[in-house]
Amino acid sequence: MANRLEGKVALITGGNSGIGEGTAHLFAREGARVILMARREREGAAVTASINATEGEATFIKCDVSDEKAVNLAVGEAINVYGSINVLFNNAGGGASGNFPDESAEDFHRVINVNLNGTFYMSRAVWPHLIEAGGGAVVNMSSLAAQRGASPKMVDKFGSTSSSYWAAKAGVDALTRYMAGVGGRSGIRVNGVRPGQIMTPGATRGTITDPDGGHHAFEKMFDLMQITPGPGYPEDVANLVLFLVSEESRFITGEIINVDGGVAAKL
Ligand code: NAP
Repeated sequence: MANRLEGKVALITGGNSGIGEGTAHLFAREGARVILMARREREGAAVTASINATEGEATFIKCDVSDEKAVNLAVGEAINVYGSINVLFNNAGGGASGNFPDESAEDFHRVINVNLNGTFYMSRAVWPHLIEAGGGAVVNMSSLAAQRGASPKMVDKFGSTSSSYWAAKAGVDALTRYMAGVGGRSGIRVNGVRPGQIMTPGATRGTITDPDGGHHAFEKMFDLMQITPGPGYPEDVANLVLFLVSEESRFITGEIINVDGGVAAKL
Protein backbone atom coordinates (compact mmCIF):
# COMPACT_ATOMS: atom_id res chain seq x y z
CA MET A 1 0.00 0.00 0.00
CA ALA A 2 1.24 3.52 -0.75
CA ASN A 3 0.10 7.13 -0.54
CA ARG A 4 -1.75 6.56 2.69
CA LEU A 5 -1.01 10.18 3.70
CA GLU A 6 -1.53 11.82 0.32
CA GLY A 7 -2.60 15.46 0.74
CA LYS A 8 -1.81 15.52 4.48
CA VAL A 9 0.53 17.83 6.34
CA ALA A 10 2.27 15.99 9.19
CA LEU A 11 4.21 17.58 12.05
CA ILE A 12 6.78 15.41 13.82
CA THR A 13 8.61 16.65 16.91
CA GLY A 14 12.09 15.25 17.35
CA GLY A 15 12.09 14.45 13.63
CA ASN A 16 15.85 14.92 13.22
CA SER A 17 16.95 11.67 14.87
CA GLY A 18 15.98 8.10 15.75
CA ILE A 19 12.28 7.17 15.75
CA GLY A 20 11.17 10.64 14.60
CA GLU A 21 13.60 10.55 11.68
CA GLY A 22 12.46 7.07 10.63
CA THR A 23 8.83 8.19 10.81
CA ALA A 24 9.54 11.35 8.78
CA HIS A 25 10.98 9.26 5.92
CA LEU A 26 8.03 6.85 5.99
CA PHE A 27 5.42 9.62 6.13
CA ALA A 28 7.06 11.40 3.17
CA ARG A 29 7.11 8.17 1.16
CA GLU A 30 3.38 7.82 1.92
CA GLY A 31 2.70 11.22 0.40
CA ALA A 32 2.62 13.57 3.42
CA ARG A 33 4.32 16.92 3.43
CA VAL A 34 6.38 16.67 6.61
CA ILE A 35 7.38 19.34 9.12
CA LEU A 36 10.17 18.40 11.53
CA MET A 37 10.66 20.28 14.78
CA ALA A 38 13.64 19.85 17.09
CA ARG A 39 16.55 21.91 18.45
CA ARG A 40 19.56 20.76 16.38
CA GLU A 41 19.42 22.48 13.00
CA ARG A 42 22.27 20.63 11.27
CA GLU A 43 20.64 17.24 11.91
CA GLY A 44 17.27 18.68 10.87
CA ALA A 45 18.72 20.00 7.61
CA ALA A 46 20.33 16.62 6.87
CA VAL A 47 17.02 14.76 7.26
CA THR A 48 15.02 17.25 5.18
CA ALA A 49 17.70 17.25 2.45
CA SER A 50 17.55 13.47 2.26
CA ILE A 51 13.71 13.44 2.10
CA ASN A 52 13.54 16.27 -0.44
CA ALA A 53 16.14 14.56 -2.66
CA THR A 54 14.23 11.34 -3.27
CA GLU A 55 11.16 10.75 -1.14
CA GLY A 56 8.91 13.80 -1.03
CA GLU A 57 8.71 17.11 0.76
CA ALA A 58 9.96 18.13 4.22
CA THR A 59 10.71 21.34 6.13
CA PHE A 60 12.67 21.75 9.35
CA ILE A 61 11.62 24.36 11.92
CA LYS A 62 13.85 24.82 14.93
CA CYS A 63 11.86 24.46 18.15
CA ASP A 64 12.43 23.51 21.78
CA VAL A 65 9.15 21.79 22.69
CA SER A 66 9.65 22.57 26.38
CA ASP A 67 9.42 26.31 25.61
CA GLU A 68 5.74 27.25 25.39
CA LYS A 69 6.31 30.49 23.45
CA ALA A 70 8.70 28.84 21.02
CA VAL A 71 6.12 26.12 20.34
CA ASN A 72 3.40 28.67 19.54
CA LEU A 73 5.77 30.56 17.21
CA ALA A 74 6.95 27.39 15.46
CA VAL A 75 3.39 26.17 14.84
CA GLY A 76 2.56 29.62 13.43
CA GLU A 77 5.55 29.30 11.12
CA ALA A 78 4.42 25.84 10.02
CA ILE A 79 0.97 27.20 9.18
CA ASN A 80 2.61 30.03 7.20
CA VAL A 81 4.48 27.44 5.14
CA TYR A 82 1.77 24.80 4.57
CA GLY A 83 -1.54 26.47 5.55
CA SER A 84 -2.83 23.50 7.56
CA ILE A 85 -1.84 20.58 9.79
CA ASN A 86 -3.60 17.19 9.68
CA VAL A 87 -1.28 14.93 11.66
CA LEU A 88 0.82 15.47 14.80
CA PHE A 89 3.39 13.01 16.17
CA ASN A 90 4.55 14.21 19.61
CA ASN A 91 7.76 12.20 19.59
CA ALA A 92 10.40 14.54 21.11
CA GLY A 93 11.71 13.37 24.44
CA GLY A 94 14.31 11.52 26.43
CA GLY A 95 15.35 10.70 29.97
CA ALA A 96 18.06 11.63 32.42
CA SER A 97 20.72 9.67 34.22
CA GLY A 98 20.48 9.15 37.96
CA ASN A 99 17.99 7.11 39.94
CA PHE A 100 15.60 8.12 42.69
CA PRO A 101 16.35 9.37 45.34
CA ASP A 102 19.62 10.74 43.99
CA GLU A 103 18.16 12.68 41.03
CA SER A 104 18.23 16.45 41.11
CA ALA A 105 14.97 18.42 41.06
CA GLU A 106 16.41 20.34 38.10
CA ASP A 107 16.75 17.14 36.02
CA PHE A 108 13.31 15.97 37.13
CA HIS A 109 11.70 19.21 35.91
CA ARG A 110 13.67 19.19 32.65
CA VAL A 111 12.49 15.68 31.73
CA ILE A 112 8.87 16.46 32.64
CA ASN A 113 9.13 19.70 30.65
CA VAL A 114 10.27 18.03 27.45
CA ASN A 115 8.25 14.79 27.45
CA LEU A 116 5.00 15.81 29.14
CA ASN A 117 4.74 19.61 29.03
CA GLY A 118 6.12 19.62 25.48
CA THR A 119 3.39 17.20 24.40
CA PHE A 120 0.80 19.46 26.02
CA TYR A 121 2.19 22.71 24.52
CA MET A 122 2.46 21.26 21.02
CA SER A 123 -0.95 19.56 21.06
CA ARG A 124 -2.64 22.71 22.34
CA ALA A 125 -1.00 24.87 19.66
CA VAL A 126 -1.86 22.44 16.84
CA TRP A 127 -5.40 21.59 18.04
CA PRO A 128 -7.27 24.57 16.44
CA HIS A 129 -5.60 23.76 13.12
CA LEU A 130 -6.76 20.14 13.31
CA ILE A 131 -10.29 21.37 13.98
CA GLU A 132 -10.01 23.82 11.09
CA ALA A 133 -8.89 20.96 8.83
CA GLY A 134 -12.07 19.05 9.75
CA GLY A 135 -10.29 16.60 12.07
CA GLY A 136 -6.96 14.84 12.27
CA ALA A 137 -4.79 12.35 14.11
CA VAL A 138 -2.37 12.77 17.00
CA VAL A 139 0.09 10.14 18.23
CA ASN A 140 1.93 10.67 21.51
CA MET A 141 5.23 9.01 22.38
CA SER A 142 5.10 7.04 25.61
CA SER A 143 7.44 4.27 26.77
CA LEU A 144 7.37 0.88 28.43
CA ALA A 145 8.60 2.88 31.43
CA ALA A 146 5.05 4.22 31.85
CA GLN A 147 3.62 0.83 32.77
CA ARG A 148 6.35 -1.29 34.37
CA GLY A 149 8.26 -1.36 37.62
CA ALA A 150 11.74 -2.69 38.33
CA SER A 151 12.81 -4.94 41.19
CA PRO A 152 15.79 -3.89 43.32
CA LYS A 153 17.82 -6.74 41.77
CA MET A 154 17.00 -5.54 38.25
CA VAL A 155 18.09 -2.02 39.14
CA ASP A 156 21.31 -3.33 40.75
CA LYS A 157 22.11 -5.44 37.70
CA PHE A 158 20.97 -3.25 34.82
CA GLY A 159 20.39 0.23 36.22
CA SER A 160 17.29 2.22 35.39
CA THR A 161 16.30 5.43 33.73
CA SER A 162 15.39 8.31 36.03
CA SER A 163 12.05 8.43 37.87
CA SER A 164 11.31 11.65 35.97
CA TYR A 165 11.14 9.66 32.72
CA TRP A 166 8.76 7.08 34.15
CA ALA A 167 6.52 9.81 35.58
CA ALA A 168 6.61 11.91 32.40
CA LYS A 169 5.66 9.00 30.14
CA ALA A 170 2.86 7.87 32.51
CA GLY A 171 1.60 11.45 32.30
CA VAL A 172 1.72 11.25 28.50
CA ASP A 173 -0.47 8.11 28.68
CA ALA A 174 -3.07 9.94 30.78
CA LEU A 175 -2.94 13.03 28.57
CA THR A 176 -3.46 10.80 25.53
CA ARG A 177 -6.66 9.31 26.96
CA TYR A 178 -7.90 12.75 28.04
CA MET A 179 -7.20 14.36 24.67
CA ALA A 180 -8.88 11.46 22.87
CA GLY A 181 -12.05 12.16 24.85
CA VAL A 182 -12.00 15.83 23.89
CA GLY A 183 -11.10 15.15 20.26
CA GLY A 184 -14.00 12.83 19.50
CA ARG A 185 -16.37 15.71 18.99
CA SER A 186 -14.06 17.31 16.39
CA GLY A 187 -12.99 14.24 14.45
CA ILE A 188 -9.57 14.22 16.09
CA ARG A 189 -8.25 10.80 17.09
CA VAL A 190 -5.50 10.64 19.73
CA ASN A 191 -3.47 7.49 20.35
CA GLY A 192 -0.10 6.61 21.84
CA VAL A 193 2.81 4.26 21.24
CA ARG A 194 4.89 2.58 23.95
CA PRO A 195 8.22 1.34 22.59
CA GLY A 196 10.50 -1.03 24.46
CA GLN A 197 14.10 -1.21 23.21
CA ILE A 198 14.52 0.57 19.88
CA MET A 199 17.99 1.07 18.43
CA THR A 200 18.35 4.84 18.13
CA PRO A 201 21.08 7.36 18.97
CA GLY A 202 19.10 8.20 22.13
CA ALA A 203 18.90 4.60 23.34
CA THR A 204 22.47 3.61 22.49
CA ARG A 205 24.21 6.71 23.85
CA GLY A 206 25.37 4.84 26.96
CA THR A 207 26.92 2.10 24.82
CA ILE A 208 28.62 -0.67 26.71
CA THR A 209 31.36 -2.80 25.24
CA ASP A 210 31.48 -5.85 27.48
CA PRO A 211 32.72 -9.31 26.46
CA ASP A 212 29.11 -10.54 26.10
CA GLY A 213 28.60 -8.10 23.27
CA GLY A 214 25.93 -5.74 24.65
CA HIS A 215 25.05 -2.84 22.39
CA HIS A 216 23.42 -0.56 24.92
CA ALA A 217 22.89 -0.30 28.63
CA PHE A 218 19.51 -2.09 28.77
CA GLU A 219 20.02 -4.75 26.11
CA LYS A 220 20.49 -7.64 28.51
CA MET A 221 17.47 -6.65 30.57
CA PHE A 222 15.31 -6.61 27.43
CA ASP A 223 16.75 -9.94 26.30
CA LEU A 224 15.38 -11.44 29.51
CA MET A 225 11.97 -9.76 29.19
CA GLN A 226 11.13 -10.00 25.48
CA ILE A 227 9.31 -12.82 23.67
CA THR A 228 10.80 -12.06 20.24
CA PRO A 229 14.60 -11.87 20.19
CA GLY A 230 16.73 -8.85 19.37
CA PRO A 231 16.05 -5.14 19.46
CA GLY A 232 13.48 -3.09 17.57
CA TYR A 233 14.37 -0.39 15.04
CA PRO A 234 12.86 3.05 14.29
CA GLU A 235 10.92 1.55 11.36
CA ASP A 236 9.10 -0.82 13.74
CA VAL A 237 7.66 2.16 15.59
CA ALA A 238 7.18 4.26 12.43
CA ASN A 239 4.99 1.53 10.87
CA LEU A 240 2.69 1.57 13.90
CA VAL A 241 2.55 5.39 13.94
CA LEU A 242 1.68 5.40 10.23
CA PHE A 243 -1.19 2.97 10.88
CA LEU A 244 -2.46 5.13 13.76
CA VAL A 245 -2.54 8.33 11.69
CA SER A 246 -3.97 6.71 8.55
CA GLU A 247 -7.60 6.01 7.68
CA GLU A 248 -6.99 2.32 8.35
CA SER A 249 -7.28 3.06 12.07
CA ARG A 250 -10.32 5.35 11.76
CA PHE A 251 -12.20 3.46 14.53
CA ILE A 252 -9.28 3.51 17.01
CA THR A 253 -8.76 6.32 19.52
CA GLY A 254 -7.59 6.60 23.13
CA GLU A 255 -5.38 3.51 22.72
CA ILE A 256 -1.72 3.24 23.67
CA ILE A 257 -0.07 0.36 21.86
CA ASN A 258 3.15 -1.36 22.90
CA VAL A 259 5.83 -2.01 20.33
CA ASP A 260 8.28 -3.94 22.45
CA GLY A 261 8.83 -7.47 21.15
CA GLY A 262 6.17 -8.76 23.54
CA VAL A 263 7.59 -8.06 26.96
CA ALA A 264 6.37 -11.21 28.70
CA ALA A 265 5.64 -9.88 32.16
CA LYS A 266 2.73 -7.79 30.97
CA LEU A 267 0.89 -10.71 29.33
P1 NAP B 1 16.83 10.23 19.82
O1 NAP B 1 17.38 9.67 18.59
O2 NAP B 1 17.74 10.79 20.84
O3 NAP B 1 15.70 11.29 19.45
C1 NAP B 1 15.19 12.21 20.39
C2 NAP B 1 14.58 13.33 19.61
O4 NAP B 1 13.92 14.25 20.49
C3 NAP B 1 15.64 14.14 18.85
O5 NAP B 1 15.14 14.41 17.57
C4 NAP B 1 15.77 15.40 19.67
O6 NAP B 1 16.18 16.49 18.83
C5 NAP B 1 14.35 15.57 20.16
N1 NAP B 1 14.27 16.40 21.36
C6 NAP B 1 14.78 16.16 22.56
N2 NAP B 1 14.54 17.21 23.39
C7 NAP B 1 13.86 18.13 22.66
C8 NAP B 1 13.34 19.41 22.92
N3 NAP B 1 13.47 19.98 24.13
N4 NAP B 1 12.70 20.07 21.93
C9 NAP B 1 12.56 19.51 20.69
N5 NAP B 1 13.04 18.29 20.38
C10 NAP B 1 13.68 17.62 21.36
O7 NAP B 1 15.99 9.08 20.62
P2 NAP B 1 14.73 8.20 20.21
O8 NAP B 1 14.97 6.90 20.86
O9 NAP B 1 14.43 8.28 18.78
O10 NAP B 1 13.58 8.94 21.05
C11 NAP B 1 12.40 9.43 20.47
C12 NAP B 1 11.27 9.25 21.50
O11 NAP B 1 11.04 7.86 21.73
C13 NAP B 1 11.54 9.86 22.87
O12 NAP B 1 10.38 10.50 23.36
C14 NAP B 1 11.87 8.66 23.72
O13 NAP B 1 11.59 8.88 25.09
C15 NAP B 1 10.96 7.63 23.11
N6 NAP B 1 11.31 6.23 23.39
C16 NAP B 1 12.43 5.68 22.85
C17 NAP B 1 12.73 4.35 23.14
C18 NAP B 1 13.95 3.67 22.57
O14 NAP B 1 14.27 2.54 22.97
N7 NAP B 1 14.65 4.27 21.64
C19 NAP B 1 11.89 3.60 23.97
C20 NAP B 1 10.77 4.20 24.49
C21 NAP B 1 10.47 5.51 24.19
P3 NAP B 1 17.11 17.71 19.37
O15 NAP B 1 18.05 17.14 20.35
O16 NAP B 1 17.75 18.26 18.15
O17 NAP B 1 16.16 18.69 19.97
